[in-house]
Amino acid sequence: MKNEKQLILSRLPKVDVILAQPSMKQWEQAYSRNLIKQAVQEVLAAIRQDVLSGACQEVPSEAHIEEAVVQYFQDHQQLHLRPVMNGTGTILHTNLGRAVLGKRLSRHVAAIASSYSNLEYDLDGGHRGSRYHHLQTILEKLTGAEDVLVVNNNAAAVLLALTTLIKGKEVIISRGELVEIGGFFRIPEVIELSGGTIHEVGTTNKTHMEDYRRAVNENTGAIMKVHTSNYRVIGFTETAPAEEMAALAHEQGVPFINDLGSGLFIDMRRFGLPYEPTVGEALRQGCDVVTFSGDKLLGGPQAGIIVGKSCYIEQMKKNQLLRALRVDKMTLAALEATLHLYLDEDIAVRDIPALQMLAQSQRVCMNKADALCQELAKCKLPVKTAVEPCRDMVGGGSYPEYTLPGYVVTIETEQYTAAELERRLRHGEPPVISRIQKDKVCLSVRTLTEEDFPVICSVIQTLF
Ligand SMILES: *Cc1c(COP(=O)(O)O)cnc(C)c1O
Repeated sequence: MKNEKQLILSRLPKVDVILAQPSMKQWEQAYSRNLIKQAVQEVLAAIRQDVLSGACQEVPSEAHIEEAVVQYFQDHQQLHLRPVMNGTGTILHTNLGRAVLGKRLSRHVAAIASSYSNLEYDLDGGHRGSRYHHLQTILEKLTGAEDVLVVNNNAAAVLLALTTLIKGKEVIISRGELVEIGGFFRIPEVIELSGGTIHEVGTTNKTHMEDYRRAVNENTGAIMKVHTSNYRVIGFTETAPAEEMAALAHEQGVPFINDLGSGLFIDMRRFGLPYEPTVGEALRQGCDVVTFSGDKLLGGPQAGIIVGKSCYIEQMKKNQLLRALRVDKMTLAALEATLHLYLDEDIAVRDIPALQMLAQSQRVCMNKADALCQELAKCKLPVKTAVEPCRDMVGGGSYPEYTLPGYVVTIETEQYTAAELERRLRHGEPPVISRIQKDKVCLSVRTLTEEDFPVICSVIQTLF
């Protein structure tokens, strides 16, 4: 037995022999000889392993080895991070990259990334400028804030605000708002990390203004309000009005910090969702510092935006931590361009994909689902498709208890179980992410565009 394996190993072709094959030449255009050699070596090493383990019991043909090398290139050519089709119907899908940027806006980001820019250069004066300056005017205009600052994400915004403003003092916060946002970002732990101590008031379901009044003392560093984004306490509940919390903080001479989570510039009732204060409204209620995400319902890039009173934001600008949390030029480019769209609410809803998807009525979804079904029918595939109503989600921890009425295309086939079809779609090129409901693969059309339909059809075609 041992000898047999030795015999196969000794008969494996040498690297140079494979390299000299004409089929290897075609790769020399795209790859260096060195990379091709590495590929051949790795393929031969894998075959040797298979021989030793008994998985391979005869000398593989040269054609087989060449094919394995070609496969190796195809597998390794692929970058790991890549676009996917979102057929889940969840608009801000945390696992699929949250908010999507529009095509035109993405071209601007690419232009900034592939060129020098005035990132930290004052074109008027011809001297050093600030990267934060680009967003100053527009954010002030959109929110009415005195001053603004942008960091890597909202978690960073909260950390920077607390670390700068608390300095070992107490943060007064409702028990109902000591939440975990996701990815183990826990408000109580962030307060402690920032060097502050938590002074909890009220109960999980009810916190009265009186609870905050009784809690303030000479050691109070701030009063904080946190949006309980991803969960709701329903029934017998009460929270204190933001205006009164602000007044109490100001009597005490401390900041009132409001972590809004998903920052809004538009009243969400427009989309049939319940009222939430916009960033501007939160500031008008008397908040001194408001923090929110760039890539939740705002629909921009991952970023943390801080707006509020100059006296507090000035201090944050001087904090050493800011350097560690700073945003790069691609984020700034995407954020500035997104904010520009908000200068006209209708243009924002038209051009920001997250808002566009939110605005799609069930009728629009039905028409899109019909169009996808027809496109699939044209391909004459051995599948049974149908259009069915569904409930889509906002996602990203926003509006956890609300669903949006939408439509899915269901796909069934005798060839694969629903689980197998879902898996194969997920391994498609590009990957198509679907959901399984009532033992059928479902593609919700809310999070797909009409341009995606032919791509989905061609992915499905490769499965049969
Ligand atoms: C989402 C959220 C955060 C974290 O924001 P990221 O941008 O994901 O870092 C913080 N606070 C609240 C209330 C949130 O909803």
